[in-house]
Amino acid sequence: MRIAFNNLRILYGEDLELVRGNIVIEDGKIVEISNKVYKESIDMKNGIAMPSFTNSHVHIVDSVCKDIDLYKPIDMIVGKGGVKFKCLENKLREEKEKAVKDAMEEMLKNATLFFCDFREEEKSGIEFLANILKSYKLIEYKILGRSKDSKEIDSILEISDGIGIPDMEYMNINDLKRIRVKCKKKNKLFAIHCSETKREVKNCLKLKPDFVVHLTNIDDYDLYLIKKYKIPVVICPRANSSLAVGVPRVKELLEATLVGIGTDNVMINNLNMFREIEYTFKITRAIYRDYKFNAKTILKVATINGRKILKAKTNEIVEGNVADFVIFRNKPFLHDEYLAIVHRYSSEDIKVVVKENEVMFR
Ligand SMILES: [Zn+2]
Repeated sequence: MRIAFNNLRILYGEDLELVRGNIVIEDGKIVEISNKVYKESIDMKNGIAMPSFTNSHVHIVDSVCKDIDLYKPIDMIVGKGGVKFKCLENKLREEKEKAVKDAMEEMLKNATLFFCDFREEEKSGIEFLANILKSYKLIEYKILGRSKDSKEIDSILEISDGIGIPDMEYMNINDLKRIRVKCKKKNKLFAIHCSETKREVKNCLKLKPDFVVHLTNIDDYDLYLIKKYKIPVVICPRANSSLAVGVPRVKELLEATLVGIGTDNVMINNLNMFREIEYTFKITRAIYRDYKFNAKTILKVATINGRKILKAKTNEIVEGNVADFVIFRNKPFLHDEYLAIVHRYSSEDIKVVVKENEVMFR
């Protein structure tokens, strides 16, 4: 299958450099970016092509528990035996399945074509989710599971993309280290929620994780360690704000390491990446009083950085890469494409979604 789109503004390559041109895709790959117009080219009328969103941290099944008891402290909501876990226990399988399907539709609607789930409920939790997700052709995913049973860890690694540790108190440090080694041997991801409320970066880094999630509450020494060991970080600013635990030091983390972004638990936040990037862009400008902090930086965090962190195929728009991008319609009187996407565009502005051989026109 060959499709040519012409008359585009393209956020090209790893710097999302703005170039004008045409994109030709064939057999799921970008085979040409040029100014050539073919007979069969589809006129995109000055639309904007951008790599699709990567939601680097989600608990998708929690969408069955939307907004139960948000007005409680974080430990009572997502801590051991908290509201979230009671809800997951009490919901029927069919209810969870419906909630996951709705969440997938929401992601598709908002151009999120890759996500990473931190799955609870041990082995059966992974099997349940993987079984639903396999029928979605446009959205790729990685599922990181968990289990306290060291014997079950091996079977979890067989059916998942790695392990997502909920917190440093989940097991003793030696057991955690053993799991970490197993992940490495099997070439699977090992990640951990870290410093959402407590200062624990030093401890988390003892596990040499592939990435850490949150880093909401950190001091300068923690930042120094993250920079020194170049540990990638997935921030979740809106989820942290929902839970009233602060916001990450976005600008300094961006200076220190590779940063991705996630919407986190669907119980306390929605999956809309447009909202995530606008919120993050604006609070960062406001908190640092930095009028130079730019929209392009946040777009990279929300699109191509996540794929690097999750060790997935890149979705940079470059010849030879897989076709994994969206095309936004043009709107009159826009003077800055990056800003337009970050704080003016929404799902209604998406004209085309391209995921390898699947092309969806809206
Ligand atoms: Zn999480």
